[in-house]
Amino acid sequence: MSYFCSECVVNWWPYQAKGGCCPRCGGGTTFRQEPASDDAEPLFVIARIEAARRERCDAFEAYYERREQHRAA
Ligand SMILES: [Zn+2]
Repeated sequence: MSYFCSECVVNWWPYQAKGGCCPRCGGGTTFRQEPASDDAEPLFVIARIEAARRERCDAFEAYYERREQHRAA
């Protein structure tokens, strides 16, 4: 059993698709009676690393945005 993302063409393991969402693109998935893709695990690891990097970038930008607003005020 797996969750299929037609956008990434990957059959994810059930635990990888949080709330039925693709861990890579965040899109919706469809439940399939098929085994997970062979590359689901490495792709999931990459997706998690990229998500963490995006989060750090967002936090960094938000920090400086607040600083700039503080200075302008
Ligand atoms: Zn996807």
